[in-house]
Amino acid sequence: MPFEQLTLGEWVIEVDSQATHEAYLKKETITCSCPGCQNYLAACLAGQALTSAMGALFEDLGMLPEKETEVYVYCGNAERHQACYGGFSHLVGRLLNRPANPREYTSVDDWFQVAFTEKAHALSPTFPQPVLQMEFLGVIPWVLPNLEVALSREEIGSAPLETLFPGLHWRPR
Ligand SMILES: [Zn+2]
Repeated sequence: MPFEQLTLGEWVIEVDSQATHEAYLKKETITCSCPGCQNYLAACLAGQALTSAMGALFEDLGMLPEKETEVYVYCGNAERHQACYGGFSHLVGRLLNRPANPREYTSVDDWFQVAFTEKAHALSPTFPQPVLQMEFLGVIPWVLPNLEVALSREEIGSAPLETLFPGLHWRPR
């Protein structure tokens, strides 16, 4: 399967989406029992975690969101309907061009931003090479019924989202 080139803002990568997809079929679904991971998984299974643009990106790359390598909650909105997540997952690919500032996230839409790195954390030893890590920031609905408990346990912050992550929005999707 040939590598296909994909451009996102200043990021240019080439991806073997078929090899990535086959690797994801063998991966475990998220098993962590912390509220952040459980809410992310529940939102994935309800088809509410990703926006259509972010879902299309996962599909283009061959990745399955419910098999995310790592997700974590940064903060929640005042109404406690949404939480801002960070996370990363792996794909079979190479980095062809990065922005001048390699920490720069590129907006996928108003709710998700992504960046790429060749530094892969928590990588399964069986994952095919070459590996890229896609890092994302995103606003995801809080779908678990134990909302109060989950949010307090995640130590939700009160700083405005726009200050923490310019370009991301709390407004409903
Ligand atoms: Zn967790």
